Amino acid sequence: MTSGNSEITEDGDARLLVEALRTIQEEDGVLTGAALRELASEYMVSPSRLYGVAATCPEFSFEAAVEDRRPQGPPVEEPEFFNRIIRAGHAQLVVSGALTQRFAHPPATIEAYVDAGGMGALARASGDMKPEHVLSEIVLGKITRKDAEWQAAAVTEQPFIIANCHAGDPIAGQATTLLDRDAYSVLEGMHCAAVALGARHGFLYTANLTGEEETRLNRTALDIAAAADGDFAVTVVPGVNSLVGSEDSVARAVIDGRRPVPSAQRTGVLLLRGRAAVIDSAEMFANVTAVLASGEPAGTRLYRVTGAVDRPGIIEADASATVRELAERAGTHAGAQALVGGLSGAFLTEGQLDQRMSVLKPADNPRWRTVHMLRDRRDIFPNAREMAAYNARYLCGRCVPCRIGSVRMAEMIEAFPPDAETLAELAETLVATALCPVGRGAAGMIRSALKRII
Ligand code: SF4
Repeated sequence: MTSGNSEITEDGDARLLVEALRTIQEEDGVLTGAALRELASEYMVSPSRLYGVAATCPEFSFEAAVEDRRPQGPPVEEPEFFNRIIRAGHAQLVVSGALTQRFAHPPATIEAYVDAGGMGALARASGDMKPEHVLSEIVLGKITRKDAEWQAAAVTEQPFIIANCHAGDPIAGQATTLLDRDAYSVLEGMHCAAVALGARHGFLYTANLTGEEETRLNRTALDIAAAADGDFAVTVVPGVNSLVGSEDSVARAVIDGRRPVPSAQRTGVLLLRGRAAVIDSAEMFANVTAVLASGEPAGTRLYRVTGAVDRPGIIEADASATVRELAERAGTHAGAQALVGGLSGAFLTEGQLDQRMSVLKPADNPRWRTVHMLRDRRDIFPNAREMAAYNARYLCGRCVPCRIGSVRMAEMIEAFPPDAETLAELAETLVATALCPVGRGAAGMIRSALKRII
């Protein structure tokens, strides 16, 4: 094995590492464990750093012995912890607003949807308004946070539209509830987006569905298309049962029929089958419908509040809501602590609850708009331990740092008190080297727990 380069220092320039890895792969055909260890030592980078770089590039192949060496983690019981959460108010609406106006009496047919005011947004988008006005309402009206992607796709030929309705994290249930209660609004929003972007084909990407659910959604998509009487069609694509199923790169892989694992994050226009693709959440498309129908600006988001509260469920609240406001609406108790962001989230003490959700987790994924309340500080450690075990079992294993590191973290946090220094160091390494936000967040959750309990 020769790489032909020895100028890399501990912080490891990724470009140079990739060049070195390419040289090895050209010579050996695959990256073997021995070659990777030798290269790491030669260039004075940690093996996890090197594995992390190699795993983010699809061009590299690992020998089977490296690919298969997922360590055995601690035995994990069925996730009763999450079953409790999921049972607790999955579809219950605690506070409603423009987005959830139809939740109390979900329309069962397209006729009932139209009677309840449905299709008004699309009538406006395809009637009085020009496509560029519809686009500017969506982008400048701050309905989406992905304004650059929308604008870039708008100047391409027939881009695809993807509504990502996969929650990934079992704590997040907003998209599932939205599809259960008002799939018509999500689909009408997709048709409005098609007017804005000149799209002809869209995909409703969901969690893994039962046959009955898939049939119902397909029926709804056909009903909306018939009522819209345009040339835009939506295909329902059931996703995989996986924590990473909600990642946009996984959504594109499933739609494309590829292996459902994350790929390295990229910026700029996303591509699907050689064309631009706009991917946004179910909630965003429902918001397009609400805003275009009412003419009122988008101001609310869906949050899921669970755990030690009197009224767990979905809360529609202002985008600038604080953790405390949400917890109080759900009926929290004095001294409660919070986990914000689910399995990839962060623990907050009672004194930190006045932080705004939008600042804590500013990204658009519904998983980051979950609040799980804990009775007090003593609940942090048991929850972190259960979540670490769950993550170790259900993270996808696509990249080596997370595949090995998540299992090691779960083993280490089993002890009480854990070896905090080593565990924190491992969590830091994973935050820096894991491929996707789900794996990095899982390590961030451990790091956050250690700060609160040690
Ligand atoms: S970081 Fe974890 S979840 Fe993400 S791709 Fe790597 S193994 Fe999968």
